[in-house]
Amino acid sequence: MTFGAMVGQSEAKAQLRRMLAAGPGHAVLFTGPEGSGRRLLASLFGQALLCLSPGEDGACGTCRSCRLFEAGSHPDWIAPLRDPKREKTGIPVERIRRDVVGPLALFPQESPRKVLLLPGDELNETSQNVLLKSIEEPPPYAVFLMTVASPRNLRPTLVSRMVRVRLAPLSDDDMRRFLSGRGIGLPDGFAPALLRMARGIPGEALRLLASSDLPDRRVALLDLLESLGGMTHAELFDTAWPALDALGEELPWGLAMWSGWIHDMILMSRLADPAAAAREPARRQPDGIGSLAHPDRQSAYRKRVGAAADPAEGLGRCLAAVDESARALESGANREMTVCSLLLQLRKELSHAQGRQRPVS
Ligand SMILES: [Zn+2]
Repeated sequence: MTFGAMVGQSEAKAQLRRMLAAGPGHAVLFTGPEGSGRRLLASLFGQALLCLSPGEDGACGTCRSCRLFEAGSHPDWIAPLRDPKREKTGIPVERIRRDVVGPLALFPQESPRKVLLLPGDELNETSQNVLLKSIEEPPPYAVFLMTVASPRNLRPTLVSRMVRVRLAPLSDDDMRRFLSGRGIGLPDGFAPALLRMARGIPGEALRLLASSDLPDRRVALLDLLESLGGMTHAELFDTAWPALDALGEELPWGLAMWSGWIHDMILMSRLADPAAAAREPARRQPDGIGSLAHPDRQSAYRKRVGAAADPAEGLGRCLAAVDESARALESGANREMTVCSLLLQLRKELSHAQGRQRPVS
């Protein structure tokens, strides 16, 4: 398959095409979050390196080497994966010695090269040390490819020996192309929120789409945000905090949805003439509405904007608070403290919506 088999990643592909033309060197590191397609891109590059008559855009797809590769039986392609049932903490060093270092010493059989693809996130310190030796003094026919979420997960000496190829987040258009290529249409109303939550990571979009109750949970979370301003102190801690905590690992997406709602409100306040919007809510369609994260909430937005419920500077502070909390959680801040202090701040800013009556604690 050629690089065209993969949607997006034009910069990474251009870099790989240059490497194909000029010689790939001995080691290439593909970095990008899980689900970004780094293994697919590395495999397309690997197939091109093994191909007997590669073109400008990668492997020919028809030579004997390509046929063996696509059948999964190319003898010069070494791509061990962790066995999740038996190997809890990465690929053990014994297997690296047996499946990588051992076969590496044998000459290639079908292609002029021998290409290895290693999952960097699954290699412990000892395995990395063993590999480092092979990468430092490789046989002339060997090319190492490695995937990793972040170079920080690897020893710096290992990283310094590899040329880095970065996978970029997909644009919304590329994401739609990726999904439609798999026969997946995005549900109306939910599409912008989903694209936002997937953060340009195609595997993430697939994971989110497989979660069938996600649309309902999004609506529940937006309802919750819209009612925060009217909540009592007790409701905040008895209802709102448990609802967010119940998101578990998906809390960052919950916050991304909230951030989208606040973005939308800021946009609507800017676009709409509040007085006119209140008089003719159905007919007024300000330009730029297509960029709403939650287009299905338009009527709720208009009501708030029309009532001048949320002062612009307050919304700005809400956005900053949500983004800051998301960053704090990502760097390991205490979950309950971070979320509860965010809830308090959002309630304070959004309480104007309820007839400017501050809730009583
Ligand atoms: Zn070929």
